[in-house]
Amino acid sequence: MIPSEQAYQITQSINFRTGKEKVPLGQLIGRVLAEDIFSDINMPPFNKSAMDGFACRAEDILNPLEIIEIIPAGKTPEKIIGKNQAAKIMTGAPVPQGANCVFMVEESKMTENNTVFYQSAKTGVDICTVSGHIKKGTNVVNLGQDIRTGDKIMSKGTFIKPQHIAALASVGCILPEVYKYPRVGVLATGSELVEPNIQPNKSQIRNSNGSQMLAQLAAIGIAGTYYGIAEDTQEKTQELLQKAVNENDIVLISGGVSMGDFDYVPVIMKALGFDILFDRVAVQPGKPITFAVGKNKFLFGMPGNPVSSFVQFELLAKPFIYKLMNANIQQKELYLPLNEDYKRKKTVRLGWVPVAINADGTVSKVKYNGSAHLGGLLVADALMAIPIGINSLKKGDKVYVRQI
Ligand code: AMP
Ligand code: MG
Repeated sequence: MIPSEQAYQITQSINFRTGKEKVPLGQLIGRVLAEDIFSDINMPPFNKSAMDGFACRAEDILNPLEIIEIIPAGKTPEKIIGKNQAAKIMTGAPVPQGANCVFMVEESKMTENNTVFYQSAKTGVDICTVSGHIKKGTNVVNLGQDIRTGDKIMSKGTFIKPQHIAALASVGCILPEVYKYPRVGVLATGSELVEPNIQPNKSQIRNSNGSQMLAQLAAIGIAGTYYGIAEDTQEKTQELLQKAVNENDIVLISGGVSMGDFDYVPVIMKALGFDILFDRVAVQPGKPITFAVGKNKFLFGMPGNPVSSFVQFELLAKPFIYKLMNANIQQKELYLPLNEDYKRKKTVRLGWVPVAINADGTVSKVKYNGSAHLGGLLVADALMAIPIGINSLKKGDKVYVRQI
């Protein structure tokens, strides 16, 4: 049995990387950039008005101002603002030459003869004015203030979320190079298993791991290939695993890695030419998690119990998949206080316990009977880590939690 951290390091030290491909902007969510991205423009590309209002010279702000032009967004101003002149301007429009500030419509008063006055708001908070006055630069976003042409806006390894899409769109990056997803196969072993659409007989259970593993893959953008259920014979399991191995980079095979008489998976992994790098990890749930390596092929022997399988996918398989795609993802470390005492009996393994995170930032236990109890996961927001050697925690103790 090896420590959990060591198992993680072993999986993370694999050098294989998926290839690269170009993917259009609309399909980039969840992908990982394989190139640095540079801006081809200044942002904003011109001195831009941040408000609907009037552009003028700050030095004229206390005078009546003659309106000489109306500038909607998208229009290039045609006139130069001179002394005691203003242009009516919309948010996002270029500030005309000569003007150095914009005051808001809400702080303006129009007169009949095409003249406007600045009128400082008497109420409310006006962050743009100093002592009620507009100064140079007020409500103007300068050319290149946010991004300059040639600036690096994203680095290789960036995991693309919706907020990255806007930044890519704004610099015209419509077909960046990203890492390919690995091909992942999923299969379940167990003569007691039937598919979810079947009514189990007295000694059968439904295969929940198969759907769960596919769903965990789908949640990170991967369409896994499902190979069904292998009954617990060496021939059947080997045949199905061989097929999955031939067609994928990674295979997740659930069950059959415990100590039972019919747990053939480790034997089969070896028979197919894989080296088992670990097969027992000091973690609960999920001790029998097994990791084997062939020629640019990788096998995770997932524990049969569904909560164990879920947790081990989160702890090991998912970070491994991201590593193959060169993703630069750091798990956010969250330490939150417990809002009740916690006790456990055995302390030789790192425990991961489903917990709820409360609105006040504290952590509570949920009803959880152990690694077969899927209901525990349904009401949990996170997994709480209980270090080796620790059997009790007190209300108020800070615990490491990992959101799920
Ligand atoms: P095993 O690792 O094959 O000994 O399985 C451990 C436990 O998990 C047993 O109670 C199995 O019935 C259960 N189990 C194994 N595979 C699955 C599966 N695919 N879906 C749900 N439960 C499973
Ligand atoms: Mg089994």
